[in-house]
Amino acid sequence: CGIVGYIGHREAYPIVIKGLKRLEYRGYDSAGVMLYDNAEAVIKVCKTKGKVLDLEAKAKENFATNGTIGIGHTRWATHGVPNDVNSHPHLSNSGELAIIHNGIIENYAPLKEELIKRGYTFKSDTDTEVLVNLIEEVQKKENIKLGKAVQIALNQVVGAYAIAVFDKKNPNEIVAARLGSPLAIGVGEGEYFIASDASPFIEYTSNAIYLEDGEMANIRLHKPLKVRKIKDDSLVDPYIQELQM
Ligand code: GLU
Repeated sequence: CGIVGYIGHREAYPIVIKGLKRLEYRGYDSAGVMLYDNAEAVIKVCKTKGKVLDLEAKAKENFATNGTIGIGHTRWATHGVPNDVNSHPHLSNSGELAIIHNGIIENYAPLKEELIKRGYTFKSDTDTEVLVNLIEEVQKKENIKLGKAVQIALNQVVGAYAIAVFDKKNPNEIVAARLGSPLAIGVGEGEYFIASDASPFIEYTSNAIYLEDGEMANIRLHKPLKVRKIKDDSLVDPYIQELQM
């Protein structure tokens, strides 16, 4: 399983697809991508059971691959069979938030029950769709930005994760977090990359930050990276590692 993300000035789709292929060694059963089209202000999702090649074939049919913000995922199913609907990315009920997730949300069942009571509906059988709606519920209730909502939601979650979350309401940002699954951030000139390891972005930048367990990052266009501890909100001075090309 693997995750890839891009925010910057290039077309995100080829970077995400190539990146997912480099992560294929990690194993997976499904693949998917979300792109944000800045001009139209729409979130576009294409996902399928099968290989990254199947995803590319599906995208060729009727998916507009333009957009300079993107997140992509290869899934190793833990909750819900491998099929198109259970593939990532998952959207929140409002359609405004998109998430990709590697790992497991162990307490997804009680969280899901609570969300259903509040009127949320679910398309998939995944634990991940519970997390994205929990983030949405927190964000609505507290009227806060995505990063804060992700942080509050993750403090209610038991499990393991590498996630990347996008919010259409504030489309210059991707929020990433990790606990128990690897997550690297590539820092370029006016662009950032996110991936399970550095292989998807090594040709674009040699500067990488590896998030530690329990850390999250606000990855914002044309702004410095902000890394903090999920538990207590304390800021972390991110250590930028020089990759050997
Ligand atoms: N638990 C999630 C799911 O089954 C993510 C699996 C993964 O790590 O790819 O959809």
